Amino acid sequence: MNKLEQLYEGKAKKVFATDDPTLCIVSYKDDATAFNGQKKGTILGKGAINNRLTNYFMKLLEDKGIPTHFVEELSDTDTVVKKVTIVPLEVIIRNISAGSFAQRFGVEEGIVFSEPTIEFSYKCDELNDPLMNAYHAVALKLATWDEIDTIKKYAFAVNDALKEFWSSVGVTLVDFKLEFGKLPDGTIILADEISPDTARLWDSKTGEKLDKDRFRRDLGGVEDAYQEVLRRVLGK
Ligand code: ADP
Ligand code: UDP
Repeated sequence: MNKLEQLYEGKAKKVFATDDPTLCIVSYKDDATAFNGQKKGTILGKGAINNRLTNYFMKLLEDKGIPTHFVEELSDTDTVVKKVTIVPLEVIIRNISAGSFAQRFGVEEGIVFSEPTIEFSYKCDELNDPLMNAYHAVALKLATWDEIDTIKKYAFAVNDALKEFWSSVGVTLVDFKLEFGKLPDGTIILADEISPDTARLWDSKTGEKLDKDRFRRDLGGVEDAYQEVLRRVLGK
């Protein structure tokens, strides 16, 4: 599988065309951004760790019956995926209050919810990814009700599977962001990545943050946290 022209360069990954029009190659970078690109930096080794972790989770989720874009890992940082049209919604599941939830509602971080919550943000950097409800997404024709129902069903199923997995390696899954895409026949599948860039992961015993909040909040030990997450997953 050859990398042809670059189709897109995002904040954390590049996307390349391949000789198969139904497939593309995602290439993970060490670049890190926060606050919609206002804070920029590098996390050494992050690209390779996030590539490996994402592929591990995509395979785990496929085994649980959730369709994903994963096709084949090509190298440390590069993976072949099914090319989709991304549904421009960031789908966020929360098990515990943190980040923008805690800020928006004026509560502390760490409140354990009796049920997970789901929310959508409109994936639009120019508008700062505004919070959006399902009616707004349907009104703007970003997705149909059927697609929203499928996305919700998959997102909660991903949460069940990942919560169980992380807990088995001593990590609490606080919250995470997913993206879904559409195949040419309209089928909805899980796309993008699942990594410490897109999830909050707290050590179950100590509460230590093992995710991008170490970078966002200048907590130090960023590379070590990503390495630790990989170590826990590979030790499984
Ligand atoms: P951003 O665009 O937010 O800066 P990235 O740096 O992660 O994010 O760039 C990767 C881009 O590739 C994202 O826009 C994401 O929606 C898109 N993408 C992820 N998976 C696929 C896929 N299977 N097919 C097409 N595009 C994808
Ligand atoms: N998230 C993400 N990309 C975004 C926004 C959020 O991957 O553009 C993830 C983030 O890492 C966290 C979860 O979604 O795991 C919830 O993020 P939140 O809304 O609390 O926003 P933040 O604190 O990142 O501003």
